[in-house]
Amino acid sequence: MGFPIDEASSAINASGPDTSITELMDFIYAGQMATTFENPLQEPPHMILNYDEDEDYYERAFSDEDGVPSHISKPMIGFGVPNVPRPILQRNLPTAAIGPPYFYFENIACALKGVWSTISRFLYEIEPEFVDSVHFSAAARKRGYVHNLPIQNRYPLMPIPPLTIQEAWPLTKTWWPTWDKRTKLNCLRTCVGCPKITKRIRDALERCDGVPDLHTQNYVLHECKKWNLVWVGKNRVALLEPDEMEMILGYPENHTRGGGTNRMDRYKALGNAFQVDTVAYHFSVLKSNFPNGITLLSLFSGIGGAEVALHRLGVPLKNVVSVEISPVNRKILHSWWEQTNQSGNLIELEDVQELGADKLEHLIHVLGGFDLIVGGSPCNNLTGSNRLSRDGLGGTHSILFYDYFRIVDTVKCIMNWELFAYEFCKGVVCSLYMEL
Ligand code: SAH
Repeated sequence: MGFPIDEASSAINASGPDTSITELMDFIYAGQMATTFENPLQEPPHMILNYDEDEDYYERAFSDEDGVPSHISKPMIGFGVPNVPRPILQRNLPTAAIGPPYFYFENIACALKGVWSTISRFLYEIEPEFVDSVHFSAAARKRGYVHNLPIQNRYPLMPIPPLTIQEAWPLTKTWWPTWDKRTKLNCLRTCVGCPKITKRIRDALERCDGVPDLHTQNYVLHECKKWNLVWVGKNRVALLEPDEMEMILGYPENHTRGGGTNRMDRYKALGNAFQVDTVAYHFSVLKSNFPNGITLLSLFSGIGGAEVALHRLGVPLKNVVSVEISPVNRKILHSWWEQTNQSGNLIELEDVQELGADKLEHLIHVLGGFDLIVGGSPCNNLTGSNRLSRDGLGGTHSILFYDYFRIVDTVKCIMNWELFAYEFCKGVVCSLYMEL
């Protein structure tokens, strides 16, 4: 696979003779990255894998089937995906979980052990739904969703997007070698490879006369899976462009260009974003409930995956309170809002930690309550591969999950109290009327 012998031997020595290839690769890469971090000038910045947002990359170690924890069923279809038969499911939500408001929480499926059971415990004992967006698009994206939405009568967004690499980019078929069996991409991430990689691949293939030997094939395939490279010419592979990632993730073309974003910011924003078709499938049950529009509390909005999904479903966005700390992401969402001529109100806030009960109460009064609260809090400390800060939900960034819970719970309390107070007053007025 092209690893230096000393690194391979030290990985075997350190991990023991029975360690799987995947774990060894994980070990070697982690070592390489640790060195890169100690010496950040060694490679250009875009070559440095971003530990913080590298999600489930190492769990899968370039293969779609590896590294999925045992509590997640395979195929990863949650409570159902289009075109995959499964028995009709009924689920009984715990009473405390039932809305209003509806809420929808998202995070990486392959989180550290115990993370999902804690998330579930906080979010009213709702069972997570684990879905791989490979069922909705040409790329894998394994995510867990905890929500109190109905699960019957979901339907997919139209038009159905390309489901394979070859459907997405038909011209690549001309150059696709028979020994590269990929039809789907791995998870689209926040970091991309650099041109050096594609050059190295080209050189390696050109050194072989005709069909490359097995060693070269393995090396090329390894790099292609690692960096999601596609064939664009004889012996030539290319990195995905941001607009190609936008298409696979279900966003309008140039969505992340809004507000003059640079290329690296675009990759970063897209790597963290919702896969729109997947989320829209879950939200589709809301369409008939909100013909006059929805009031959305969008926490950790990023580039607006939830907003785009609802808009594409034709659910009018009556009010959106978006809370997002990154100015780049706020600009992207703001520019999409303007470009799509939204007639509703967009209220932009920065930090979920500053969204306290008083502010929530005020917003609930002004907007008449929230219909849906969406959020995918940062996953930086949740991945088992993050050897620098694998602190689980207690980690610096991932701890923000508790803010998601706090906000949902506060909104529920305020809204239920107001409903109760309203019913109570109505009752009092009625009985006074009867007495009269
Ligand atoms: N679902 C989003 C992406 C979520 S990624 C999408 O579809 O694009 C997590 C997001 O949380 C990132 O955009 C990050 O900038 C944001 N974030 C991190 N800390 C935050 C905080 N304290 N308050 C609000 N947003 C925060």
